[in-house]
Amino acid sequence: MNLSIDIHTHIDQHDPADLPAMLERSSAAAVGTIVVAGVTVESSQKAVALANKYETVFAAVGMHPQDLTGPISSEDEAALSLLATDPLVVAMSEIGLDYQPTSPDHDVQEEALRIQIDIARRNKLPVIWHMRDATPDCLRILRDERINELGGAAHYFQGSWDDATTVMDLGCVISLAKPLLRLTELQEVAKRVPLESIVLETDSYPQPFKKSRDKWTEPKDVALVAAKLAELKGCSMSEVVHQTTDNALTLLGERGTPIRDQLNHLNLNAS
Ligand SMILES: [Zn+2]
Repeated sequence: MNLSIDIHTHIDQHDPADLPAMLERSSAAAVGTIVVAGVTVESSQKAVALANKYETVFAAVGMHPQDLTGPISSEDEAALSLLATDPLVVAMSEIGLDYQPTSPDHDVQEEALRIQIDIARRNKLPVIWHMRDATPDCLRILRDERINELGGAAHYFQGSWDDATTVMDLGCVISLAKPLLRLTELQEVAKRVPLESIVLETDSYPQPFKKSRDKWTEPKDVALVAAKLAELKGCSMSEVVHQTTDNALTLLGERGTPIRDQLNHLNLNAS
């Protein structure tokens, strides 16, 4: 497969009028699939709507730890459970733990994470998780919840080699994004992580704080991450794209079937 997969974005947060051109730019960069992750019930609904609108877009659903306003209500849990059954939903994301000083109560976050892992389990969805300043607790909960049975990816990974080892020991993969272009410590870690344990993402969202619109991160930039990884690994970019796409499809498992079909369709049309 010579097309890449951007396993985690928030392009639902962009102006809808901006999306067709952005998706064209990503196709031109050989990005075959873009996964949009919700951060609330509402944005998860938007992610599913986008997946139903655009051929290259698929959805992930979930409530981001920083967006929790209290324990997950039974209404929210029911809404997420229903969304999780949509055939174009391929993962539970963005869920996890965030222990920045202004983040919600840690017990509330843990309960929300466990509830959402349970929804993932019931729907055979892998978990693409967020962990900021909360790595030990997050990895403890994932182990406790037997994440290896679901499959998972550490989203926007910027951790140490020890963290990477723990993630891989859990049967999960490392998701690399644009920090790989500039963080030398992360580059050293990436060199040591087997290519079979890496997936790629951009975490794209609107960045009005950047003066030039051209500088906003977009799904097309997954190609920059792939190129950097190829340089670090001393292999070809096509090898990186081929392997990380394979890894993403393995991660998504049964629920990734619509992506597999769509990539085959795109490859057929390209050949
Ligand atoms: Zn994200």
